[in-house]
Amino acid sequence: MTNHFGSVVERIVIKKGDITKENVDAIVNAANSHLRHGGGVALAIVKAGGIEIQKESDEIIKKIGMVPTGHAVITNAYRLPCKFVIHTVGPIYGEGNEDEKLHKAIYNSLYLAHLYNLKSIAFPAVSSGIFGFPKDRCAKVLIDTAIEFLESFQTSIEKVVFCLFDDETYGYFEEYYKNLL
Ligand code: ADP
Repeated sequence: MTNHFGSVVERIVIKKGDITKENVDAIVNAANSHLRHGGGVALAIVKAGGIEIQKESDEIIKKIGMVPTGHAVITNAYRLPCKFVIHTVGPIYGEGNEDEKLHKAIYNSLYLAHLYNLKSIAFPAVSSGIFGFPKDRCAKVLIDTAIEFLESFQTSIEKVVFCLFDDETYGYFEEYYKNLL
């Protein structure tokens, strides 16, 4: 494969599916600042993985307070097939500087996975559900950030999966990714 990014693009996988079933080292949760996993992918993760994920999240909030937008924290995954859940807080569309904040949320999730020496990580379309970020722009920010991260330094991360739940979102990610090949 000859492209500008070389093998970095080939370490990215775009797929349709339910992220709670992903057999990777860590899945990423599109969390809110209170880590109250009450809807969207967050609720699906707690339902599949167990209430322990919510309890561990509550302990984090007790210790450090709210998780600011763009930051990420990690919990165990309990009954999920992955080993860890990385909870990141993406921007709410309309609050301003959304692209930069979403970039930061994805970058910090990847960095946390790197600190834990993880090899594979799966992301949902962070911020593009309840938080209202446009799905096509979400695809660009998430994929660009993964490429930037994988190119920027030697990391334990071998594979970055984008696991999209619906056809429309999958279509945007697939289209943007194909144009990089
Ligand atoms: P946010 O509040 O950051 O927008 P949401 O959970 O509302 O987060 O949505 C983020 C994305 O996750 C949306 O594209 C939504 O369709 C998707 N999603 C919901 N459930 C799942 C799941 N089980 N696996 C993967 N993606 C999911």
